[in-house]
Amino acid sequence: MTQKRDVVVIGGGVIGVCAAYYLQRAGRRVTLLEQGEIGSGSSHGNAGWIVPSHSVPLAEPGAILRGLRWMFNPKSPFYIKPRIDFDLFRWLLHFRAAANSRAVQRTVPVALELSRMSLALYEDLVAREELDCGFAKSGLLGIYRTSRGWEDALEQARLLSEFGIPSQILNAAEVVRMEPNARDDTTGGVFFEGDANVRPGAFVRELALRLYESGCEIRTNTEVLGFDVSSGRITSIRTSDEEYTVDTVVLAAGAWSPRVVKELGLRLPVQPAKGYSITFESPGEPLKQPLMLAEARIGATPFGQQLRLAGTLELSGINLNVRGRRVNAIREAMAEYLTYDISPREENVWVGMRPLSPDGLPLIGRVGNPSNLVVATGHSMTGMTQGPATGMLVSQIVLGKPTDIDIEPMSPLRFSGGAAHA
Ligand SMILES: Cc1cc2nc3c(=O)[nH]c(=O)nc-3n(C[C@H](O)[C@H](O)[C@H](O)COP(=O)(O)OP(=O)(O)OC[C@H]3O[C@@H](n4cnc5c(N)ncnc54)[C@H](O)[C@@H]3O)c2cc1C
Repeated sequence: MTQKRDVVVIGGGVIGVCAAYYLQRAGRRVTLLEQGEIGSGSSHGNAGWIVPSHSVPLAEPGAILRGLRWMFNPKSPFYIKPRIDFDLFRWLLHFRAAANSRAVQRTVPVALELSRMSLALYEDLVAREELDCGFAKSGLLGIYRTSRGWEDALEQARLLSEFGIPSQILNAAEVVRMEPNARDDTTGGVFFEGDANVRPGAFVRELALRLYESGCEIRTNTEVLGFDVSSGRITSIRTSDEEYTVDTVVLAAGAWSPRVVKELGLRLPVQPAKGYSITFESPGEPLKQPLMLAEARIGATPFGQQLRLAGTLELSGINLNVRGRRVNAIREAMAEYLTYDISPREENVWVGMRPLSPDGLPLIGRVGNPSNLVVATGHSMTGMTQGPATGMLVSQIVLGKPTDIDIEPMSPLRFSGGAAHA
């Protein structure tokens, strides 16, 4: 047994690293435990969008029907592996309960507030720490091919404008003017000028480096295996390396979070949602800004001369198996929106697991019992976007200060009527 740690953060993804950063800046002594390398979870090969415009959750009216249709198409952007899994079943029930317009009206402003706070913190953080991570406020252009997709897009743009997110509606010719690599036979586009992007792996690594330089204890290749609890508090954490006695614990283990705290009797409704990205040399002039190839649910982000395509959502449990057909579908879908040719080229295929919450809002806050555990997970499709704001909120919760925004709607206890326990 070693000396007692002050705050131990579990997970070295964008959420864990940002939480550690703001805790350390607030004067706490932080230890960060990561089972692999920093950023080896979902925070590395993602599309890198920082997108307040993505505040409409996956659980919206129509999502269930669309999901069922996609289930039977091997090239679709969505898949649920059929299996007997009670956690998945419970998660789907929560999802169904959230997929209605009243719930969406409640969710959007909360997600928006968190994402806007985060974007402001990104600007401050990148400048203050001189992070070399390609942060740019280039906006996001959504491109649509079908009249149905286009109608949905206009409806979403209208909803977002009610919440103060402006957008420009473009016809096909205007889309090509804004993005010369776009095909000229699309239905139209929506441009969100307030969005930004970052090289996700570089952001997380650079911030972790600054943390290390300022005295944070970072233990990689250290897997958390369990906890010792006494009088309703976690007293120590058992790991693959050693046992750490602790004062406060922050759970930021992404899609693994429910598994990590299962032995505490906590049931967090977070499902691993696998996605892929392919990164390769841009097949032509680099894109002018990140694009959403809308109906295909694919993100295309330029990183200098490189292009990254990211997409698909598979609910198939914790696994990093690559399904070749879905990766091919991403590549083929690109050609429906862009004039780039798709002949085989050297590429880097990446798999990540989003921590998917049923209603699209993250789970941030204390769970009551154990009283010294703070949860920060379930960021779904917008963990990169919401990382810095989540980190700031976690530090305020740990310090017992008022939080900058109301965290009640993000309570980890909201799905179980107050108790997250099994
Ligand atoms: C294809 C794809 C594209 C995406 N694009 C975007 C985007 O453009 N914008 C956006 O905002 N979001 C995007 N996301 C979502 C975003 O990647 C996630 O929401 C975010 O990375 C979650 O961060 P995290 O820190 O919670 O989890 P992770 O990054 O997964 O970090 C959790 C860490 O915990 C560690 N860990 C797990 N168990 C243990 C243990 N027992 N002991 C110690 N360590 C442990 C893991 O190794 C991991 O490193 C995308 C996701 C995917 C898959």
